Amino acid sequence: MPEIILKTREEIEMMRESALIVSKTLGMLASEIKPGITTLALDTLAHDFIKDQGAEPGFLGLYDFPNTLCMSPNAQVVHGIPNDTPLEEGDVISIDCGSLKNGFYGDHAYTFAVGEIAPETEKLLRITKESLYEGIKAFRLNNRIGDLGYAIQNYCEKEGYGVVRELVGHGLGSTMHEAPEVPNYGKRGRGKKFLNGMVLAIEPMINMGTHRIKQLKDGWTILTADGKPSAHFEHNVALIDDKPELLSTFEYIYQALGIQSEEETPFRSLPLVL
Ligand code: MG
Ligand code: MG
Repeated sequence: MPEIILKTREEIEMMRESALIVSKTLGMLASEIKPGITTLALDTLAHDFIKDQGAEPGFLGLYDFPNTLCMSPNAQVVHGIPNDTPLEEGDVISIDCGSLKNGFYGDHAYTFAVGEIAPETEKLLRITKESLYEGIKAFRLNNRIGDLGYAIQNYCEKEGYGVVRELVGHGLGSTMHEAPEVPNYGKRGRGKKFLNGMVLAIEPMINMGTHRIKQLKDGWTILTADGKPSAHFEHNVALIDDKPELLSTFEYIYQALGIQSEEETPFRSLPLVL
């Protein structure tokens, strides 16, 4: 099994820089998402924005992925490829974005509503995002990977949602996907122990219906087996002084959308300066 690479405080600060470039990119996109815009147009905006920040798009060319953003509308779970189909009122669009700066990757994701969405879809988004913070809370010294997965799974399954099994969170660093794998399901007390210096991409992928998925013939797009919507929220988190510290933020998104939220406050040692 590949080894878990612990990061120094200096490396974690460099990773924070990479993460915040993704955070700003998602914030920029938040103001552009509306009915009529295509995912390809959003992809081009993100590509140029990341370059302007002195970074490289982290996904472009990674495992031969063709674009800057993974764009997964509605029943698509993850890894959707941007195209020229316009978004419509009532859609949801999961956007996953990566950056590479100073040799370190940032990698996080947010599911956006396009205009007004159905109340049951809004609930799916809310519960999925809340489950991300349940997972982050469990990322503490001497807890184990199974504790984190259990926290997310339990939070979502009690709502009747399906927790995707085949795709998982991961360690993050000078490669996009490092050890350990971080499933969004698990058993308490099982798996590797968390250690200071670990940096994880924690990313629940939660379906309104069945947890089962299928893949399109494009070799990338993952979608729900029952055609019901799916949501995906991802943060980059370091374990520092025994506690989870957020490296990424959704505050740029909230600023763009006029949302007030205290959800990140428990996971910051210093106030965030936007
Ligand atoms: Mg991601
Ligand atoms: Mg990831």
